[in-house]
Amino acid sequence: MRYGMAIDTRKCVGCSDCVVACQTENNVPHGYTRDWISETVEGIYPDLALEIRSERCNHCDNTPCVRTCPTGASHVIEGGIVKVTHEECIGCAACIESCPYDARYFHPEGYVDKCTFCDHRVKNGQDPACVSVCPTHCMYFGDLDDPNSEISKIVAKNKVKVLAPEAGTKPQIFYIV
Ligand code: SF4
Ligand code: SF4
Ligand code: SF4
Repeated sequence: MRYGMAIDTRKCVGCSDCVVACQTENNVPHGYTRDWISETVEGIYPDLALEIRSERCNHCDNTPCVRTCPTGASHVIEGGIVKVTHEECIGCAACIESCPYDARYFHPEGYVDKCTFCDHRVKNGQDPACVSVCPTHCMYFGDLDDPNSEISKIVAKNKVKVLAPEAGTKPQIFYIV
């Protein structure tokens, strides 16, 4: 079992429903966020293309955030989901510094927080909140180890990329481009 996400940038309209759903589902405090929308323009004028991406922790296979955590608060659970045990976090920020994606933030209650792939929903057979509300159905979540899962088929048949591959973290969110 290896959970991952595929996001079709060609169908994302930047509505931010995924961001609002995450904040509501996970009680993310006002002014903070576990996921966000990025926009980049590529090409040379007048042949320009806008890419809109819903971004969050990539639940990497190679995790500097876990390696640098001195207390074990940052850890990996079944399915490759990277989590933080709030009670064990001393707020040293080593994980924040080591993440190439700026995927973590300081919760005002004194610990580091980030996307969990909504593992509390996943273990009940539900999709993460962001995936479940996307109005264009451009987000896919599932088991990348199962060649017959929808996400595996989507990743296999489309041109995909990961963000900042040069960082060597082996991200598990694939963007269809
Ligand atoms: Fe894009 Fe879907 Fe998020 Fe809207 S909910 S910003 S369409 S990924
Ligand atoms: Fe760690 Fe950052 Fe990768 Fe998430 S995106 S697993 S916080 S290195
Ligand atoms: Fe670990 Fe918390 Fe320090 Fe991050 S801030 S490295 S989770 S103890």
